[in-house]
Amino acid sequence: MTSEDRRNFIKSLNLADVHRHFDGSIRPETLWELSDKYYSAVPGLDFEQFRHYLQWDDAVDSTLLDYLDKFHVPLQYTQFYDNIRRISFELAEDAYLDGVKLLELRINPVIHRRAGLTTRQVIAATRKGLSLFQEDHPDFRAGIIVIAMRNHGGNMARLLLREVVGEKEEFHDGIGVIGFDIAGHEAPFPPLLFENAYDLAARMGLKKTAHAGESEGPERIWEALDCLGPHRIGHGTSAGQDAELMKRLAADGICLEVCLSSNLQTGAISALSDHPLPRFLEAGVKVALCTDNPTVSNTTLAREYELAMELFSMSENDVRALAGMSCDCTFLGEGCPFPEAG
Ligand SMILES: [Zn+2]
Repeated sequence: MTSEDRRNFIKSLNLADVHRHFDGSIRPETLWELSDKYYSAVPGLDFEQFRHYLQWDDAVDSTLLDYLDKFHVPLQYTQFYDNIRRISFELAEDAYLDGVKLLELRINPVIHRRAGLTTRQVIAATRKGLSLFQEDHPDFRAGIIVIAMRNHGGNMARLLLREVVGEKEEFHDGIGVIGFDIAGHEAPFPPLLFENAYDLAARMGLKKTAHAGESEGPERIWEALDCLGPHRIGHGTSAGQDAELMKRLAADGICLEVCLSSNLQTGAISALSDHPLPRFLEAGVKVALCTDNPTVSNTTLAREYELAMELFSMSENDVRALAGMSCDCTFLGEGCPFPEAG
């Protein structure tokens, strides 16, 4: 199979991306245009130089700090309703053109409130952008996962949940909030701090995921399972070191949101070929292949499937099964709408 055949095959599948961050998925061209609008461009930088501040480059970037640095520039433009709406629309379009029919977009509203927007306005702008795209593409489905930052603590997470209750999917035609997540530095902010917040999320009828086991060991995933009762785990990479944990994940039907390129760039794995994805599948753990941050990671979901195929010698049937499993892990409505993909 040539690489072109492989790409065409992948794009013929109905892909689902259930782990994609708003602020890591913004078109560089849009940010460049906004920088021109607000500041008459960035003095001393041309577009290619500007792009470097948004997007991973294997030739020069190598550390977690390099990765995290890419999230700074967008923030000055994502404080305004119209920009959030436009970016959400474009983000849906980019996903769709890449073969994604089912997108769960996650966003931390708090970091987009610095020019006076409220939490609900940030979510409403995101809903609006996704809805506008969906209106003309009825075979595209989307939902929003709200992220609380770990370093803001459990009480702030509960406050955030109360603020977004009116943005739940059921209160809006089409697109709204379907899930809850925590993200950020794992070590000093263990899952236990968020037990009450996850109880509240469950009472609000939201589905639950949590970033865990990305920069820390499997014990953080055990804690997340025991304290938070998640339906899915974001990354969960270190579960590959713990056979008992993989058994538990498989027995409980907990899905791992696997992001290959991101895991390499942030140092969660030291080489792509070391990724535990094949071990997860062998242990019967459900997996959803995702992008995390397509702009920052300089990837697309189709590219991540290509990587998985190349790295782990997956057959077309293996990839079809993986796409079906990713879709089955969705928090959206009645679940996977594409039975033929499984
Ligand atoms: Zn993530």
